[in-house]
Amino acid sequence: MIQTGDSLHSITLFLANNIFYLLLAVMALNMFQRRYQQHAQKKRMATLYLGILILVFMVGTILIVNFNLPEVLIFPLAAAVILLGYVKREHVLPFRLNCRQCGQRLSSKRLLFFDANTCDSCAGSTKGADSAKGAGSETDDPMQDE
Ligand SMILES: [Zn+2]
Repeated sequence: MIQTGDSLHSITLFLANNIFYLLLAVMALNMFQRRYQQHAQKKRMATLYLGILILVFMVGTILIVNFNLPEVLIFPLAAAVILLGYVKREHVLPFRLNCRQCGQRLSSKRLLFFDANTCDSCAGSTKGADSAKGAGSETDDPMQDE
């Protein structure tokens, strides 16, 4: 029955079955970001938006599989999701790999949990109080947890 789209079929099936775990990973990251609320508002919203985009894509693939829709639909679906992410990239991807001020590579903690996109030393030199909070309290601050 399926002549051309055998591999496309398995790709669609794979995505429909597994993209949920990607969504789970993003939402887990979102949960971790709760601990850094003050520093990570934007990035926390970003993982939420990412989660929504992934959810849209996931629902699309599931619909394609369950309703036996043509699997080439996965391409416009992916394109739409990517385009939406691109248009909203300032909200969806505020992450930067390098420090905004000195260009040094950011630690994953700084990358994921601090909106400022500055490294530890730059954050320390600009905003003393803020970075003291950032450097000292993120591992054990029960006030921010719940
Ligand atoms: Zn720096």
